[in-house]
Amino acid sequence: MKVVIIGAGMGGMSAAIALRQIGIETAVYERVTENKPVGAAISVWSNGVKCLNYLGLQEETAELGGIVETMSYIDAHTGETMCRFSMQPLIDEVGQRPYPIARAELQSMLMQAYGMDAINFGMKMVSVADGPDAATATFADGTTVTADVIIGADGASSITREYVLGTPVTRRYAGYVNFNGLVDTDDAIGPATEWTTYVGEGKRVSVMPVAGGRFYFFFDVVELEGVPYERGTAREVLRSHFAGWAPGVQTLIDKLDPQTTNRVEILDLDPFHTWVKGRVAVLGDAAHNTTPDIGQGGCSAMEDAIELQWAFKDHPGDVHAALAAYQSARTERAGELVLRARKRCDVTHAKDPQATAQWYDELRKEDGTNVIRGIVGNILGGPLTPAR
Ligand SMILES: Cc1cc2nc3c(=O)[nH]c(=O)nc-3n(C[C@H](O)[C@H](O)[C@H](O)COP(=O)(O)OP(=O)(O)OC[C@H]3O[C@@H](n4cnc5c(N)ncnc54)[C@H](O)[C@@H]3O)c2cc1C
Repeated sequence: MKVVIIGAGMGGMSAAIALRQIGIETAVYERVTENKPVGAAISVWSNGVKCLNYLGLQEETAELGGIVETMSYIDAHTGETMCRFSMQPLIDEVGQRPYPIARAELQSMLMQAYGMDAINFGMKMVSVADGPDAATATFADGTTVTADVIIGADGASSITREYVLGTPVTRRYAGYVNFNGLVDTDDAIGPATEWTTYVGEGKRVSVMPVAGGRFYFFFDVVELEGVPYERGTAREVLRSHFAGWAPGVQTLIDKLDPQTTNRVEILDLDPFHTWVKGRVAVLGDAAHNTTPDIGQGGCSAMEDAIELQWAFKDHPGDVHAALAAYQSARTERAGELVLRARKRCDVTHAKDPQATAQWYDELRKEDGTNVIRGIVGNILGGPLTPAR
């Protein structure tokens, strides 16, 4: 049995490690020539951390992860703390601490675990096809690779998805852009072990710790799709969007490095339930592209990898049964996360200003119970975090 994986993102690498764990021959093909992920960091929630632990990366993950002891919401203008609460009840309930991790470090951990030399970099797949006995990927340099199964972990603009669905799809602009990066922790912005979020006017500024005394920061700005932006101008752009916001936000804007600050337009895709065509399947963002509003896109990709392993374990030598089992285990769960994120996105970014004002009022009365219940609801339902 040989499985070819297209894309060495967190989904593809997790799948490659997971399949190799059960003795399947794997090969990974990646279009870029080096590990250079877009985006500064991600929060790996407890369901994602459990997947990484399962892949044998417990110690490495804990080393890279920031420690989040508390969470707080701050009023954007007054700087008043709307609520602050411990993360411990969440950790107790789901049995695993979440870890925000710098993206390049997470990616590098996965690549090293698999073997950097075993990844075929600089190989852009241009088409995929399958037949009764094998599946074939063709690359931009004209070469091809043949395998029993091809897994398209080729991200949000997946061409494997187009093959599986038989048609291109159009992603939906979620209505906001996200600026993100890394800065050294600073108490003037937020405590070093807290996930601090400033909210107001349907905008949001957040910092959370990653290893090495750094904050992962992001700013959400509601604006039309396609607004021109020149890299390096983040400070001026953010100063104008966040004029009058609390001193912690101004300090963050002063401290960030405009050259390394990313700007990402946020899109998602309606859930779909066909993930497999013959010997070809999609995984990760190729299968479920979500807004980052509940921090679950990457975690969901890792869940895919575990379910894929289990499907092959349960159906040794039967490619079609294994892929059918994988699809049936994952589409509903992954689709639900996409829709949960979309709902959260709309409230956070004032799609209905009244609903957002009501959320701000709720935050002023929050003791952590409701926020934690929501996050636990996202975490539960995956392969290693079964719903109760
Ligand atoms: C702003 C932002 C914040 C986020 N925050 C979080 C968070 O906090 N928590 C979380 O869990 N998720 C988060 N996500 C989502 C997360 O980044 C994605 O879900 C995750 O990266 C998906 O992994 P993937 O491997 O499926 O795709 P990707 O990471 O996109 O990897 C796909 C890989 O395939 C390669 N590729 C693409 N096309 C081809 C081709 N034709 N041939 C060969 N290679 C190809 C690409 O170069 C890439 O390396 C966030 C996303 C954004 C945009």
